[in-house]
Amino acid sequence: MVEGLVVHNLNGKILTMNAVAERSLGIRMADVRGKTSDELKNYSNWFKILFQDLKEGETFEYSLNNKDGQDFDYQIIKITLNKERGEILKIIRDISRAKYLDRMKAEYVTIMSHKFLTPLTNIKWSADFLLGDNIDLRRKEDNVKNILNNADKLVKLTSYLLNIAEIEEGLFGYNFEKLDIDAVIKEVIQNYFEESRQKGVEIIYRKPKEGFYFVKGDKSRLNVAISNYLDNAIKYTPDGGEVEILLEESGNELKVSVNDNGIGISPESVQSLFSKFFRDKRARAVHTEGSGIGLFIVKNIVERHGGKVGYSADGGKGSTFFLTLPLYKEL
Ligand code: ADP
Repeated sequence: MVEGLVVHNLNGKILTMNAVAERSLGIRMADVRGKTSDELKNYSNWFKILFQDLKEGETFEYSLNNKDGQDFDYQIIKITLNKERGEILKIIRDISRAKYLDRMKAEYVTIMSHKFLTPLTNIKWSADFLLGDNIDLRRKEDNVKNILNNADKLVKLTSYLLNIAEIEEGLFGYNFEKLDIDAVIKEVIQNYFEESRQKGVEIIYRKPKEGFYFVKGDKSRLNVAISNYLDNAIKYTPDGGEVEILLEESGNELKVSVNDNGIGISPESVQSLFSKFFRDKRARAVHTEGSGIGLFIVKNIVERHGGKVGYSADGGKGSTFFLTLPLYKEL
């Protein structure tokens, strides 16, 4: 039973309530038994809402702040149980999560629209410029590069959004094969060679010994997952910093950790890191362009491989993101 149920009569006397209602109202049945409706209204503001004059089947939505400062949204529905005896049932439904998701969606549409708008505006400016007369070769080249750069951003953003849609519709396909994760890591590092060099960020890769580290995995998806970790580590580490990738074997699993000495994460954000669209305030301050989609995709990919993702604060300096994967077993 997830809904709170309260039965009262026309005089506002509480006849019964279930445990969910006791919890939602923060009230115990034993404390309100026998009280008149005026006494109850003085006892808790909740009863002012509960005893509102509602029509049959009508719903009423109410938001409140609990004592810990959390927002809650409730919906109250009235149903007459017994007309002669004047017994009324009130259903109290916690709609906080649905409301929260609605708010997040609306907010996200606004944020995403801005993220598309910036590269589109840049492309438009450069295209306008290229239409002009007597453009010198160097400026022409700069503007073409600007168009390509911004088009890349749009492609990346769109493919992220498509990934999310696919994950949610269960269409994010996988091609599992026997795969050497060491080779995947090396490929990812190679792909980030230029970017890390430009930022002066050194990438160090450590593993127990040379050899194969087999998992049953989808090569391109695991490449995306590890790339996301490395991309973030480079992005959120100031120039001249250091990123370490560690491959470890323990029991039946392999662990890949990406450790940086960058900006780290505010302690209150740790539990939300892998949620869709989440961005910590530190990241927002230094890098306005993120989307908060990458880690959500990593989590989905890794869990689909039977592994886990996680974060450790690394003694307060920088971040360590890790993922585990079951070792390959011959059938
Ligand atoms: P994005 O980087 O586009 O914002 P992600 O989903 O990849 O989206 O990451 C979500 C959030 O997690 C980031 O906005 C940032 O707050 C935090 N984060 C991820 N990796 C790091 C890191 N290496 N250092 C600091 N913060 C990080």
